Order: sequence, then C-alpha cells, then structure tokens
Amino acid sequence: MRLGLFGGSFDPVHLGHLLVAHVAIEELGLDRLFFIPAAQSPFKPANQPAPAAIRLQLLRLALAGKTNCEIDDQEIRRGGVSYTIETVRDYAKCFPEAEMFYLIGADNAAKLNEWREAGELARLTQFVVTPRPGEAPVNFPAPFRGRTLKGFPLAVSSSEIRARVQAGLVIEPLVPPAVAEAIRAAKLYL
Ligand code: ATP
Repeated sequence: MRLGLFGGSFDPVHLGHLLVAHVAIEELGLDRLFFIPAAQSPFKPANQPAPAAIRLQLLRLALAGKTNCEIDDQEIRRGGVSYTIETVRDYAKCFPEAEMFYLIGADNAAKLNEWREAGELARLTQFVVTPRPGEAPVNFPAPFRGRTLKGFPLAVSSSEIRARVQAGLVIEPLVPPAVAEAIRAAKLYL
C-alpha cells in the first residue's frame, strides 16, 4: 500500500493544495492520501490560524466526492504545536507494511532538517516535493530522501487568499466554489 500524507495549516485549503494531491496520486500511484491539518504549525508561531473546526469544514467541502482523499484530524485532536514526527510515527504503527510519502511544497524542502527529530523522521518516511512558482529546484538536506514531482506549479497560497478577503477582492478563482461560499458565510479573514 502506498500512502500519501499531506500536512499543513490549510487556512484555508486552496487549489494549490488540491493540485498537489492530484499530482501526487497520479505520479506516485498512491492508494490513499490523507490531508492532515495542523493544530498549530511550529513554523508559524506568530500566526493564530482560523479555528480548527472551520478549517476542517473547508477541507470537507474541498474534498467532497474525492474518494481517494481523506481527512485525518489527529493533530487537531492532540492540540498544541503539531510535530510531523508524532503523526508519521502513528502511521508507521497503524500501517507497518505501507510505503509512506510525505508531501510538501518546494518552500518547505530546504528547511527539513529543522523539523523535530529530523533523523527519525527521515528514516520513517520519504518526502515528495511539488514545485511551487518562485522556489528554486530542491536539494534534500541529508539525511532526507525523496523526489520532486513534475506537477503544474500553481502560484496560490493561503496567505494570498486571506489578504484578498481582507482587501475585499474575490477569491473564487483560487478555491473551490463551496469553500469560497463557506468563507464568506463564516465571515472568515475579514
Ligand atoms: P501560507 O500562505 O499561510 O503560508 P500555504 O499556502 O503555504 O499557507 P499550507 O497549508 O501552509 O499552505 O501548506 C501545506 C503544504 O502545502 C506545505 O507543504 C506547502 O508548501 C504546500 N503548498 C501550499 N500551496 C502550494 C502550492 N501552490 N504548490 C505547491 N505546494 C503548496
């Protein structure tokens, strides 16, 4: 079994994330792909994300009908700062026979050796990078192993979406319609 793990703040989920998922399933031949929203990213300590329940609701809307994508809320349930090593250990325990691929955008790859328990993390999972516009080609820092997907680099980020909502600009081209509608209804990011 080939498992994809895709962690992030998803504040909010956007078309860039969905494209990463699509490309990973296609290029890696994944059997299952888990979106794993963080309670709090260790790399964004100053950013208080939108409430977890809302970020989860947006993910459910974005992934409705996508049978090969699932949502795992274990980091939200654990609370506090979310460390990938804890999540990857849990998958290694639950799926001892599976091959694991942890998906990241190119902006995250250079900093991998700052992640908690980097050595153990690199032993347990390989990493898969999706290109992101404006990011240099990736060299994995030792001891990490992984590959870069061909993908279709898409210049969309959650911070851009939050900024556009605050500026009163439309976000429809950047997120699925149901996500845009829910952001408006919840008066998020104003
Ligand atoms: P922010 O703008 O708030 O920093 P973000 O758009 O990077 O957020 P995250 O939820 O932090 O979104 O991202 C989760 C993962 O998805 C990260 O590994 C990030 O690099 C990756 N990612 C996000 N957007 C893209 C994109 N457009 N292309 C490729 N990877 C992406």
